[in-house]
Amino acid sequence: MSIDACLAELSDLAVDTQPQRVRRRSRDFYWYSPILKRRLDRVTADAVVTPRSEEEVARVLAAAFRHGVPVTARGGGTGNYGQAMPLEGGIVLDLSELTAIEWIEHGRIRVQAGLKMAELDAATIAHSRQELRLHPSTHKTGTIGGYVAGGSSGIGSITWGLLRDRGNILGLRVLTMEERPRALELRGADIQKVNHAYGTNGIITALELPLAPAYRWAELILGFDGLMPAARFADALAREDAILKKLVTVIEAPVPHDWLFPERGIGREETAVLVMVADFATDALLDLLRLHPGRLVWQGLIEEAVGGRLPLFEYSWNHTTLHALKHDRTITYLQTLFPPPRHLEKVEEMATRFGEEVPIHLEFVRFGGQIACFGLQLVRYRSDERLAEIIEEHERAGCPIFNPHAFTLEEGGMKKVDALQLAFKREADPKGLLNPGKMLGWSDPDWKPVERAFLYEAH
Ligand SMILES: Cc1cc2nc3c(=O)[nH]c(=O)nc-3n(C[C@H](O)[C@H](O)[C@H](O)COP(=O)(O)OP(=O)(O)OC[C@H]3O[C@@H](n4cnc5c(N)ncnc54)[C@H](O)[C@@H]3O)c2cc1C
Repeated sequence: MSIDACLAELSDLAVDTQPQRVRRRSRDFYWYSPILKRRLDRVTADAVVTPRSEEEVARVLAAAFRHGVPVTARGGGTGNYGQAMPLEGGIVLDLSELTAIEWIEHGRIRVQAGLKMAELDAATIAHSRQELRLHPSTHKTGTIGGYVAGGSSGIGSITWGLLRDRGNILGLRVLTMEERPRALELRGADIQKVNHAYGTNGIITALELPLAPAYRWAELILGFDGLMPAARFADALAREDAILKKLVTVIEAPVPHDWLFPERGIGREETAVLVMVADFATDALLDLLRLHPGRLVWQGLIEEAVGGRLPLFEYSWNHTTLHALKHDRTITYLQTLFPPPRHLEKVEEMATRFGEEVPIHLEFVRFGGQIACFGLQLVRYRSDERLAEIIEEHERAGCPIFNPHAFTLEEGGMKKVDALQLAFKREADPKGLLNPGKMLGWSDPDWKPVERAFLYEAH
């Protein structure tokens, strides 16, 4: 690779080679995992290039192709398994200046990849009171392209399912990594080639996405005496199709009190259920609560979450772990599927088996047409061996783990890299320069795909 010759060709673009700044923009939230922290701490690019248009993206890709320089895309850098970290150096391609909204229509939007999701929603709400169906809890800092390339689900998944579900992404525009980069417009099944591929087989420059009505969202914290009463309530609420909702989260005591929001009145012994429902659905929600042994702890509107007050969703999904880490640096986490229809039974079994070592955090979602829950359980980390044991025990009990302590697509276990996926990689990135090291099926010919449930099949 000849990085100097490559950068010389791009000298009229925004190129940064200042080592501290480049290092800072070569990382994401990989440090959530003690294993990734050790393995990736030294990773850095040689330069960050920030294109201002799709033409500039194409110029960077063409120059890098000619000089054999790796290119790793970066949106907001909020991925939490080192997805955006340039394992082999080269260029970090910062897409955060690609922020144009091409159009907004009734029910859909076409937008450039670098727009932050909060800014996207602000624009669609102002335009026609519409918003994204799903967003991660990094709504303020994550980009829409980074979410599709590196995320999977989030706030809204209780109604709309996951990003992998047909209809949650309508179209993607992708640039290939070739001598003359081509712009491919992917629709239908082809979208899955690039969805959750960590930018290993094309740079997304624009996306077409469905929109949902933007209601005034009420936020509520409910308190329960015990994990299972809270989980049973959450499951019942998840099944109330006529209650419009965006979030149903369960966080086991004493985490809500000790590490999240003691100022909102939750007791140390109480397991919290965090809920977002349309404001006019609050009565119906409280009516359901009367059938369960829980109490209303706190209530507000998301639009009031300004200044120091965080919206409730910033305590949910991967934010729960972030707050816990602020209090205790030895905490880490899991990503688990508790498969339907026996998900509650499995939650109870795992909670009983691991007790205080693995405090339970559940996110209820619509999963393949059924209600299920993901576990983003906290783990009081002791050693790599113990962490591996905990993961193995979950897998043996029929609860697949999407391993957040691994940085390759295959070991993370969400994306299946099969022959079709590899064929597309050969077409879009023949020299294997896009985010190298993240797709084992490409870099290690001896890699044997494991037989397991994947969140994303390749097509
Ligand atoms: C506190 C916290 C909470 C989170 N909550 C959630 C959640 O609720 N749900 C969820 O799914 N995830 C969650 N995540 C993970 C992550 O924040 C999201 O997936 C986020 O949307 C990633 O967006 P980003 O712009 O920061 O992407 P980055 O981290 O910059 O990139 C993510 C991946 O996509 C690639 N990439 C970025 N842009 C492009 C592009 N234009 N073309 C091709 N490849 C590209 C990168 O190379 C990288 O592999 C969370 C992470 C943290 C730290």
